[in-house]
Amino acid sequence: MSDGGVEGEGALASAVNADRLATLGMLMAGIAHEINTPLGALASNHDVVKRSLSRLHDILADDVVDEQELQEVRKIVRALKGTLRVNDLAVERVLALVGSLRSFGGPDRAEVDRVGLAEGIETALTILRHRIGTGIQVRQDLEGLPPIECYPVEVNQLFMNLLLNAIQAIEDHGDGTGVITVQGRRREDGVLVEVQDTGPGMTPELQERIFEPGFTTREGRVGMGLGLLISRQIVDRHGGSIEVESAPGEGATFSVFLPLSLPVGAGRP
Ligand code: ADP
Repeated sequence: MSDGGVEGEGALASAVNADRLATLGMLMAGIAHEINTPLGALASNHDVVKRSLSRLHDILADDVVDEQELQEVRKIVRALKGTLRVNDLAVERVLALVGSLRSFGGPDRAEVDRVGLAEGIETALTILRHRIGTGIQVRQDLEGLPPIECYPVEVNQLFMNLLLNAIQAIEDHGDGTGVITVQGRRREDGVLVEVQDTGPGMTPELQERIFEPGFTTREGRVGMGLGLLISRQIVDRHGGSIEVESAPGEGATFSVFLPLSLPVGAGRP
């Protein structure tokens, strides 16, 4: 266990930026991985379409088309329809992924918007899917949450941090199997989202330190001890709260409350 000891505001600011870059890098790797499958399907189908067209061209080049050739033409047309259906799905998938990227970064990073949290959390899970081993089960119940006024890019980063911590907690512990439960509930004046994991949990002493800058128990790995600090800053800027409930051997639950509207004058960091 170590305390990285990020000292001074300048050092903290640049460390926070480094953490953002690390998140961005992981995001890119996740998106690249997710886009690769539909893109691979499109590339090989493109080849199938080219070969089918060339065959159709050959058959129709003759003035006379016999019964056998006609049957082959019908078969090719049927196959092409199937190929295009797969392509439709693949294109849809790529467009959705690129669309979700826009909500995670880019020029509108600083934009305030009124959005539902379910979409952002699902996008975070999609991006993290390549990090989630088969031993981890994810359960989510995020239906019926009202949209809230927020900085969507920041809120996405917040849930990304909590989910990544939950994944790492389970992976680094025991046989690496466990369950992550994400549950959202409507409150009169906002939304409460709980991210719960069946990882090793934390002692009260550990819980007191986890929001400190540079505090990490994951030295030598991806961890830089800033994920929770940044998460708390994001929650504070939104006029919300973040709490942890945990005991050794009993997993951890992070509860995030975000109000329906941003506090008056909520500005940029
Ligand atoms: P990092 O993940 O880079 O270490 P964080 O600020 O996200 O930094 O977390 C700080 C520390 O809090 C972690 O090193 C870990 O000890 C503890 N922690 C965070 N989330 C969990 C969790 N879900 N279960 C157990 N420990 C956790």
